[in-house]
Amino acid sequence: MQSFREKTIGGYNCFVANGYIFDVRRFSIHDGPGIRTTVFFKGCPLHCLWCHNPESQLFSPELMILSNRCIGCGACSVVCPYGAISEVDGVWVTDRKKCVVCGKCGEVCYADGRQIVGEQKSADEIMKIIDQDKAFYLESNGGVTFSGGEPLAQPDLLQELLEQCKARGYHTALDTSGNAAWGVIEPLLDKLDLILFDLKLMSSDLHRHYTGAGNELILSNLRELAKRMVSVWIRVPIIPGVTDGEANLSAMAEFLSELKLQTRVFLLPYHHVATTKYANVGHDYKLEPTHIPTEAEMTALDYYFKQAGIPVQHGG
Ligand code: SF4
Ligand code: SF4
Repeated sequence: MQSFREKTIGGYNCFVANGYIFDVRRFSIHDGPGIRTTVFFKGCPLHCLWCHNPESQLFSPELMILSNRCIGCGACSVVCPYGAISEVDGVWVTDRKKCVVCGKCGEVCYADGRQIVGEQKSADEIMKIIDQDKAFYLESNGGVTFSGGEPLAQPDLLQELLEQCKARGYHTALDTSGNAAWGVIEPLLDKLDLILFDLKLMSSDLHRHYTGAGNELILSNLRELAKRMVSVWIRVPIIPGVTDGEANLSAMAEFLSELKLQTRVFLLPYHHVATTKYANVGHDYKLEPTHIPTEAEMTALDYYFKQAGIPVQHGG
């Protein structure tokens, strides 16, 4: 999914990685310490049923349709070269099987109701955005976070961005599912100040059911990070009826305690905000109906980590 272009650095011909990005969010305060810029890589090897960013899952651009903005003008259907948009009972409907994600409909949509999510960018282009807020990183002890999707699935682009960030003295964080070969992770460690590591389910069978992959590789990578004393924050999505059970959280706390990882745990409450996004990008939302955990329910879950001596907080 990556391509490379040539560049001359210091008189040498180098290859510079391009990759698929779906957002670069400035002034983020939820993806590590201080004020940060978060770069969202597109594409993930997991497909968590509760994923808050369904537009991040595929490794290629997608057409996002915001039907609630549509004013019914029909301009999109006129320009679509593939006849993918037609009027059905007074509503403009898109046949995604015919759509090749060319983006022409978005160019003419007055209501900004059709957008291409995901574009290929080079490390240099991304660094130009990151550099705009360097004063805030220094003032707030913030920096740059690479998130997704799964940044480790585009390791060449990630490596180059990390190198450029470190050369400028920026604090760097990686937000990851941990589902990547150790050989991909290890070479990046000397350029990473912090890893935000997702832990979801300690049962590999349940992990496979809800995310599409077992958890053996993820747990093995966390063991390796612990051996190397890497700074890791654990992030646990709290999905009622899925991840919040006693068996799961007590096993998780025990596992973390045995690793002797200098860490803290962030419990991230489930929310419904993403459900409409699934329809917007034409994906099915397959998670069984559940509820948003109350503050009292969240607080009750702290017990499992506190009794193992692990600091725990909510959000982040
Ligand atoms: S161009 Fe935009 S506003 Fe007009 S019909 Fe298409 S989606 Fe709706
Ligand atoms: S992205 Fe291109 S192919 Fe797809 S509906 Fe729009 S104009 Fe048609």
